[in-house]
Amino acid sequence: MTRTHVSTDTPAPEALEGLGKKDGDVVTCDACPVLCRIRPGKTGACDRYGNFDGRLARTDPVTVTRRIADQSGALVPFLARSWDGAVISGSDTFVTGIGAGTTYPDYKPAPFIVASQVDGVDMVTVVTEGIFSYCGLKLKIDTDRFLGPEQSAVRCRGEQVGHVTTAEYGSQMLALGGVRHLTGGSKKEGVVTCETLLALCNKQTVELTIDGGSTVTVAAGKPPVVNGVHEERMRVGCGSATIGMFAQQWRDHADEVIVVDDHITGVLTEHQAGRFLAMRPAGVRVRGRKSTPGRYFQVANPGTGWGGTDISDPLSIVEKIDPKTAWPGMRLLMVSTTGEQASWFVLDNNLKPVPAPMPAAIQAIVERIGENCEPALCSVLFMAGAGGSLRAGVTENPVRLTRSVRAALTRVTSGGAPVYVWPGGGITYMVDVTTMPDGSFGYVPTPAIVAPIEFTLKLDDYEALGGHMGHVRPLDSLKGLDKVKFEPERPGNPWPLQAAPVK
Ligand code: SF4
Repeated sequence: MTRTHVSTDTPAPEALEGLGKKDGDVVTCDACPVLCRIRPGKTGACDRYGNFDGRLARTDPVTVTRRIADQSGALVPFLARSWDGAVISGSDTFVTGIGAGTTYPDYKPAPFIVASQVDGVDMVTVVTEGIFSYCGLKLKIDTDRFLGPEQSAVRCRGEQVGHVTTAEYGSQMLALGGVRHLTGGSKKEGVVTCETLLALCNKQTVELTIDGGSTVTVAAGKPPVVNGVHEERMRVGCGSATIGMFAQQWRDHADEVIVVDDHITGVLTEHQAGRFLAMRPAGVRVRGRKSTPGRYFQVANPGTGWGGTDISDPLSIVEKIDPKTAWPGMRLLMVSTTGEQASWFVLDNNLKPVPAPMPAAIQAIVERIGENCEPALCSVLFMAGAGGSLRAGVTENPVRLTRSVRAALTRVTSGGAPVYVWPGGGITYMVDVTTMPDGSFGYVPTPAIVAPIEFTLKLDDYEALGGHMGHVRPLDSLKGLDKVKFEPERPGNPWPLQAAPVK
């Protein structure tokens, strides 16, 4: 380790915990622009800082993630516990921004700038809690059910906190938060938006209502509840894809199959798959706009019925049955994209579809549609811009941090979890909140969300980009802290130090 760069003096706990100004017994917190004056034994407006024995201190412990190996070298779970005072060092310990504290407006260096050595290379991790006024989240809700028209307002407790954005394959998408709702509306809108973001980022349950649509209850990693109905299945595909997947299995047991879907309804014998299998045209014409053979758009209105349409009677989408093509006794299956709804019909002598008991072979294929559906979940991706003043806590020359991230010399993580950094200007990143430790997020009443962020890079590169070298400290200097919480490395996450670029 290049010791000349690293302060070997263990800093006093006070120096690590806060810089608040004292006025008699009262401490003024300067960790955000609210500048709370905090009386002894009390906490500030965000509950993140308090006056403890006359000094300003962060109320939550600094979270350190750690991985350990068993005798075979395999990584094993590390139980969360308080620090027992043992020396911690090396590449198997990572200091996260959770509980690290904020240094707004970043005229001072980040709370922790920690040295480590990885495979013989000197590294440094700059650790802070960012205060994000420019932030929001993308909420992916695995359901076909209609949640509301695109662009509709999404509300929590009556306040608009976001809008419906473009649907994805098998999922409805909401865009929540953002600087306009946090700062551009009424004070109440900003507060409720901040509370909604905070709850969802911390994996809590929130009820949202959508103008002209549904009420949906959501939590990261949990199934959605739409209008009181628990969603279980994410559809196997659109109607056309479902036809493609199961055409071969249907061929010998049905004369026609119609997969009802709000977006693309599939009609087997017209579809390319049915033609490839040389199926006899059945003459059932569905409503809506024909895209290509056997693929129909807009067969009904969106809703919470079959395949995300508003229908409960599948025959309502049948426009006509061609007497020149159809025949008495013709067997017709109508099914939704999750297999949750399915009806079997046989045409009578007047070519009218008559409900009939579903044959076992058809029932088995319908059940296979369900089996191929994935569990419906809500996914919450927090998105924020770390390209502003936060960078000054890392370097005296902020644009160099942006360039270093862009050049992949600096690894960005959030609570130790991997992030996706958007191309283009700034450091705009997204992180799946389920990959982060519980309770990673906080808030300040400006209003803004507080999120952990870490920048890891080679020590040499840190010096080259104008880093605060005088504040780099060895890992075991954290022993001076009152509160440290160990978290096991989260399964599935790349180890932040191992993943750090070392070239
Ligand atoms: S809101 Fe929190 S961070 Fe901001 S000044 Fe008050 S105690 Fe400090």
